[in-house]
Amino acid sequence: MTQNAIEIRGLKKTYRGSRGAPEKQALKGIELDIPAGSIFGLLGPNGAGKSTMINIMAGLVTKTAGSVNIWGFDQDENPRQSRAAIGVMPQELNLDPFFSPRGALEVQAGLYGVPKSQRKSDEILEMVGLSDKAEAYARTLSGGMRRRLLLGKALVHHPQILVLDEPTAGVDIELRQMLWANIRKLNEDRGMTIILTTHYLEEAEEMCDEIAIINQGELIARDSTANLLGQLDSKTLVIDPVSPPTRLPEGTGIEVSERSDGALVLSYHAAETTAEQVLAAVRDAGIAIRDVKTEQADLEDVFLALTSSK
Ligand code: ADP
Ligand code: MG
Repeated sequence: MTQNAIEIRGLKKTYRGSRGAPEKQALKGIELDIPAGSIFGLLGPNGAGKSTMINIMAGLVTKTAGSVNIWGFDQDENPRQSRAAIGVMPQELNLDPFFSPRGALEVQAGLYGVPKSQRKSDEILEMVGLSDKAEAYARTLSGGMRRRLLLGKALVHHPQILVLDEPTAGVDIELRQMLWANIRKLNEDRGMTIILTTHYLEEAEEMCDEIAIINQGELIARDSTANLLGQLDSKTLVIDPVSPPTRLPEGTGIEVSERSDGALVLSYHAAETTAEQVLAAVRDAGIAIRDVKTEQADLEDVFLALTSSK
């Protein structure tokens, strides 16, 4: 039986418009369970409500209606226990410029009431690769180092659930790989539940077991990554012809287009058409094949299909 790390019911948030701006319904009644031990992706275009949802979980934004249960504790009934179960790495790089990384971790541990004997500042600094910067001023740290320090801060009270809001937005490949490796390790070694928001679909595809997609404050999909990808059975064969074709292949259920580099792109649905039928149509058009490649639908296709109809 899977236990849920997070249970969200009827969650609504309306931001009051300031200075004449209209009020904004950022969340319109979200129902969502996040299984314990998973790496869970919260996806959605900019302004969908991802940060609002995460900041409500973290206790940084007050909800308008609904309930949030964290690790078995209702956020309103047991605010202290529910807060202790969750660590959040925020989207913005808000760090006190006067604290060193070690100082920032110690202050954070103090805020969460972690006794000195249970603090693991050195271990955390090591994990996020900041041991040699332990005593440096935060203002001298690069953007990447600050982000790693924020990850460290989220971990000081040993939470069961780690929430990362756009952890790799705007970071270079090296840091992204490091963050991904850290996140996987926390999930595998400690069974930590990881919730991350991202607008890099590649990241969700690579990292997440399960995914929820929100759009304009509403949940529009919730499934395993594999099932979401399986929803689209659209396949593509890309053919490099030996010489430019004199006529294009034809066949029911096959869509053909020619790319500027001369390649032929044939799209079809795997449930109705086989690759053999597509190749036969190519041969029937008198086209000799130099090379052939297949492409599968990726999360981006699923995402576009789900969000564009709205
Ligand atoms: P996401 O993280 O998915 O990009 P957000 O949760 O940040 O989305 O924002 C959702 C919507 O709520 C957006 O339309 C945004 O402009 C609005 N919003 C977010 N924070 C505030 C705020 N403090 N006051 C007013 N509106 C806000
Ligand atoms: Mg956001």
